[in-house]
Amino acid sequence: MLLLDCPCCGQRGEETEFHCGGEAHITREGPSSDDAAFEHYMFERVNPRGVHFERWRHVAGCGKWFHAARDTVTLEVWGTYPAQTSRPPEELLEKIRAARPGFKWRDIA
Ligand SMILES: [Zn+2]
Repeated sequence: MLLLDCPCCGQRGEETEFHCGGEAHITREGPSSDDAAFEHYMFERVNPRGVHFERWRHVAGCGKWFHAARDTVTLEVWGTYPAQTSRPPEELLEKIRAARPGFKWRDIA
């Protein structure tokens, strides 16, 4: 069971209070992109064994979207942060690097 802290309203809840929206920090492609870039945007997602960054929505609470970093093997939640960011907060990345030497942002395969 995951315990998530909503960074929007501050409530902590079990994962049943939230809905996962898939991979976070996806680069959105517009109508001027080529077919390969648009295909990558539409269909290709990472499925790492270990640290993963995801979008979550607090459906039984404030209803807002946020991002979470968690481990797909141990289910450890590294932290949550507002969705209006293009990359995870540096302090969260440092926390992950301290526990997982060699971890690099976007080196999550
Ligand atoms: Zn909330």
